[in-house]
Amino acid sequence: MNYKIFTLFLSLFLCLKIAANPSVTIENITLIDADNPVRFNQTVHIKNGTIHSITDSIEIIKNHQNQHTVIDGTGKFLIPGLWDAHVHLTFIPEIDHETYFRLFLKNGITSIRDTGAIIKKLQPSLNYIQTNPDKTPRLFYAGPLIDGKDRVYKGKEPGFPELSIGIDETSDIDNVVHDLLENGVTFLKSYEMLSKETYLELLQIAKKNNLRVTGHIPLSIDLEEAIEAGLGGMQHIRNMDLACSLDAPELLIKRREKLSNKKGIAGSALRTEIHSSQRYYAIDNYDSERCLRIIKKLAASEVFQTPTLTINTFGSRRFYANPEWRENYQYLPEQAREVWQEGSLNLAKEEITENDLIFDQWSLNLVNIMNQEGVKIIAGTDTPIGYLTPGYSLHKELELLFEAGMTAKEVLRSATITPAEFLNIENKIGTIDEGKLADLLILNQNPLESIKNTQDIHLVIAKGVIQ
Ligand SMILES: [Zn+2]
Repeated sequence: MNYKIFTLFLSLFLCLKIAANPSVTIENITLIDADNPVRFNQTVHIKNGTIHSITDSIEIIKNHQNQHTVIDGTGKFLIPGLWDAHVHLTFIPEIDHETYFRLFLKNGITSIRDTGAIIKKLQPSLNYIQTNPDKTPRLFYAGPLIDGKDRVYKGKEPGFPELSIGIDETSDIDNVVHDLLENGVTFLKSYEMLSKETYLELLQIAKKNNLRVTGHIPLSIDLEEAIEAGLGGMQHIRNMDLACSLDAPELLIKRREKLSNKKGIAGSALRTEIHSSQRYYAIDNYDSERCLRIIKKLAASEVFQTPTLTINTFGSRRFYANPEWRENYQYLPEQAREVWQEGSLNLAKEEITENDLIFDQWSLNLVNIMNQEGVKIIAGTDTPIGYLTPGYSLHKELELLFEAGMTAKEVLRSATITPAEFLNIENKIGTIDEGKLADLLILNQNPLESIKNTQDIHLVIAKGVIQ
């Protein structure tokens, strides 16, 4: 090799090295996270994807090397990257993973938790992240919804894509969990049509493998029994309505009868039928004492709650009916834009029902009580369900959690530290501390003054890379 070619190769190699490990310094910025007190005039140095050092801005690092980006943070606020902890990347075919990832990052969401997808269908997203690590959020996933024999999401009825697997007492659950672990899942998601026996066995096997099980509480089990058996999390505060009813035990007996499914109807229809016959009756017969006892149990047993208020208030807040909200659809692929626009306009013609308003108030009230009692709340949306545009919808969720009664700092915690705690990675991510992963947002305004200020993003840094 002659000398010229050698130096060309060498400089190319160095360029690649530098590009792969960019280093960034943010000077004179205010640091805000949900654990530390507010720190003013700080310099944060990011190297190799982690927060390398945090110093008082007076000790500004002088010898900035080449290929080193320096950002003036004067008057700005640095917060940890946000999470949307309830996402379904494979729910509809019209939105591709590149769009999802772009919209999440654009909105400051640097970590997502996929709460239900067949691994084979999720694989293209996983491959894309592997080949484009610098342009993608971190993705944690449960794999398929683990449902019972009459599973709900089996891809047979409209609105119910294939997201699940069905197991029962005859299944080798050990093997199922082992397979999912081999495919990289870091938690499990249970679903509503599981039998009590299968669910209890699943909880045991999950525990043995250090996996938390979150999801929908099976309709066949009493919530308090599920908590005692080691359930790890709940989505949509679902089935709290049934558990908090004055006659919860009788409702459970009736559900079990229906679940025997003598007419052999589809799981999706049976599930809907059970909820329509019990939900509003149960809310109407709300037993505050019983509910408080359950909530205290949830807090004591560290059962994480992802209320997804954006989806619980789908019928009452009607984001889709707001032209300003629909402007977000312009960032979706053309096919999705058309389907969403048309679907939104059609739905907007329908009236808000009394039940929509009841469920809205019940959901917000319950989140408030849970928060006050110390239940760990996680921010998540259920995007793309309900015309909830990826990324933008997380900020709606944060506003709703605040409206429910959480402080701005508590809301920030729900979208940073708490999801990390759910996955036992809070020592790596979620606050601005030396050694933590460098997923960070620079905001133009203080998020503790208004949680809406998380929408006023100056810059997003994901995996140490400026986006
Ligand atoms: Zn979901």
